[in-house]
Amino acid sequence: MKRLVLTSILLLGRYAVLPLVGLAGGLLFIWLLALDHSTRFVLATAPIMFCVIAAAVALALGILFVPARRDRSNVLDEATAPALWRIWRELDPAFAKPRRSLRFDADFNASIGEARSYAGIFRQHVTMTVGLPLLMILDERAIRATIAHEVAHAELRHITGSGNLFDFLRACENVLHYANPDRTITGRIAAFLLRAVLEWVNREYRALSRQNELAADRRAAALMGPAEMARSLVLIAGGAARLRELVFAPLETDMLGAISVPATPLERISTQLAAIRDHDALAAAAAKTMDEEPMEDPDSTHPPLRASLANLGYATLPAVDPIEAPAIAQLLPPDAARDLAARLDAEWRKLAQTRVRLDG
Ligand SMILES: [Zn+2]
Repeated sequence: MKRLVLTSILLLGRYAVLPLVGLAGGLLFIWLLALDHSTRFVLATAPIMFCVIAAAVALALGILFVPARRDRSNVLDEATAPALWRIWRELDPAFAKPRRSLRFDADFNASIGEARSYAGIFRQHVTMTVGLPLLMILDERAIRATIAHEVAHAELRHITGSGNLFDFLRACENVLHYANPDRTITGRIAAFLLRAVLEWVNREYRALSRQNELAADRRAAALMGPAEMARSLVLIAGGAARLRELVFAPLETDMLGAISVPATPLERISTQLAAIRDHDALAAAAAKTMDEEPMEDPDSTHPPLRASLANLGYATLPAVDPIEAPAIAQLLPPDAARDLAARLDAEWRKLAQTRVRLDG
């Protein structure tokens, strides 16, 4: 039953709230019919019915006004990043330029998402986001494997499901926009129910998302070979652990009690680049992650490294080729790389400035 509800949410998106609206309509109909027979019952239940109707109207309105999800900031057009676009085109059998956008951000990660135009009826637009640190630390081979993994998510329609889930959650949250929980009883009840629903849906979704990750890896492995995919998984796990150790932990310490904004994460990555990319340390960090990670983490959207490697046929951590030249030098023109880093640094400084000021 739970899976059925989740499946319909993933298929229908925001329209998955329609059965609830229908149910409320049905209740209203029965209630109006009862008006002839037992006036006392109708009067006694009137406050409940008004709440139900208000909630149904709010839900129905919520469907229409779900905010657009397409993030148009930090776009990487084809003139800026021709090599990245070329890799995407090579690996994506459904590639269609007008329906593809490429973005960059400051994460050591890549992701893919989908947005539809008004009310979610029109064609999907796929946006892939590649983190600048990923390009700075990994090599072109690992970036290719990562892009193949993201394309597999799109091919297997995982992103349609997550897009629909996102729409559904936003449509539900919209209820509170029309029925204020601080001022109306309907809103208070809706907020209470909503919290329960959101918690449940999110938990189920994280479990599904972990399965999707494994499915995307298998699909990408059919194209790139399991060894290449396993290599990228090991390098990303090791790289993430090294980044935590060499960049983010010291940054946290520096932020505490800082009176001026410390060096940005990207500046720190540049300074520590050789240490982060050091093969032996990185492989050791990946091995440590593999040993320490729990076998099943209900809070994570990603499976542990051990499960991802087992999925590709590796029972133990495979020995992988060291990282070659940083992908950024091959995939982005030097001016563009500098410019993108400067933009991310400026964004980060602006956020950090408020935090330093608040703490100080
Ligand atoms: Zn993924």
